[in-house]
Amino acid sequence: MLSRENVTREALSNLEAQRAANLLEEKRRRAEAEAKSPSVRDLLAARQRLFFSGMRGAFASPAKAQEISQNMQKEMERINSALRASLLACGLPQDYLQPVYRCSECRDTGYVGEPVHEMCSCLRRAVMNRLYQSEGLQGLERENFTAFNEEIFPDEPIEGRKGTQRSFMRKCRAFCEEYADSFAAGEGKGLLLCGRSGLGKTFLMNCVAQRVLERGYSVVVVSAYKLIEAMRRYQFGEEGIEQVQDMLSCDLLCIDDLGSEPMLRGVTVSSLYHIINERRNANRSVVITTNLDSELLYEKYDDRIGARLTDPSRMKVIPFVGVDVRRFAARQ
Ligand SMILES: [Zn+2]
Repeated sequence: MLSRENVTREALSNLEAQRAANLLEEKRRRAEAEAKSPSVRDLLAARQRLFFSGMRGAFASPAKAQEISQNMQKEMERINSALRASLLACGLPQDYLQPVYRCSECRDTGYVGEPVHEMCSCLRRAVMNRLYQSEGLQGLERENFTAFNEEIFPDEPIEGRKGTQRSFMRKCRAFCEEYADSFAAGEGKGLLLCGRSGLGKTFLMNCVAQRVLERGYSVVVVSAYKLIEAMRRYQFGEEGIEQVQDMLSCDLLCIDDLGSEPMLRGVTVSSLYHIINERRNANRSVVITTNLDSELLYEKYDDRIGARLTDPSRMKVIPFVGVDVRRFAARQ
């Protein structure tokens, strides 16, 4: 696994490159606007002259500094509004010469906050996504909506249901894709994909993770086994506070194969409750795959967890049905 320090350093140097690119883009825009409109060029020059003459005046007669500054401000406002008009007149947006940056929170510096200097959410997201891509998300390049192949599911009726397994999976895919495309941080909407192994739950969860990630959100994908392992280490003070923080604070937490983790007394149920409940209180989403149905969830964990994972106001429970696709493939 990559170290957090290295990943953070790399993300900061990407931001530095971004700032350099922003400056180039600002220069390019300025040259473009000046070439398009002589009045923009004249106004920019007037702005610069005003700025220097104001500074010189204030140095030369400190007693009048206040008055000079007020006059200068008025004149600057006049020039700026003429500039906006000239930009519009030559077909450019009126804010075309504003500073360029990707993140409006930190202006691509990576840090925000007064009086406490903190990592901006864009930097935290970059670090988190890089860290977990190198570890938990390695399957995402292969497992995404584009690679989803419904042909691997039998086009045969499912017992006791209308339609075939393939048409059912088509619907599940459409539903999950819609979920990923309309995902928004802070809405707290989640998915519980349940059913036996080999029905495509993990694949679809990875598709969702990949799409949400592409859309610029922070995503952590972790197996239930690793989640509990991280919580155990954290609880016993060994390490891993950052990983726990990531699992609590990312926009989307995907937990794979809930129910396969070891049931450690005093760890598993309480850790799981902590993560699920904290995220719920903060309106952060979870997507979970599990072999357990809702009844077994209540039985294996406790009512509080069962209720939160199946709460219809927050969670869409999708019960997967059909035959194991790996067995289907072997039969073909
Ligand atoms: Zn930022």
